[in-house]
Amino acid sequence: MSKPCSKCKGEMSPGIHESFHGEEGGLRVTIRDMPYVACAEGHKRFVSVAFAGELLDLLRSPGTFQGIPTATKKGLFRKSYLCPDCTRELPESPTGQREQDVSAELGKAQPFKVVLSIPVYKCGSCGEEYIRSVEETGTLAFKATDHAYRSIDIHPS
Ligand SMILES: [Zn+2]
Ligand SMILES: [Zn+2]
Repeated sequence: MSKPCSKCKGEMSPGIHESFHGEEGGLRVTIRDMPYVACAEGHKRFVSVAFAGELLDLLRSPGTFQGIPTATKKGLFRKSYLCPDCTRELPESPTGQREQDVSAELGKAQPFKVVLSIPVYKCGSCGEEYIRSVEETGTLAFKATDHAYRSIDIHPS
């Protein structure tokens, strides 16, 4: 039996949330079939206190962007990003999106799927697409996931 609803003291029952999403700086996170609990009034809670943070950590971790090559960073104050193959400077703005599927297996929760649509920068010489850095993309993914949580008004406790 799970703890009653913190807002109305109603009984919480488990469910699978319909697809929801959040966006930050051109990066879009779509969270599909996420397990959660809710009361009859529709107040939503994550399946555990740790769950929300674990999903944020997963989606910003470097391993999540492994499928997409990373640019070479140059300069300390004015940063520029170069194609690691032909050293040409990458465009200032994203030139496209790449999709990355992530399977989320968090604690005892039922596994579910997240799709990230990630802004990429195409090299004008060789045509390869890059993210600028795992840190930058991770920060966008973190913020986009936080927006996604807010969009469905779900809370850790
Ligand atoms: Zn409630
Ligand atoms: Zn290139």
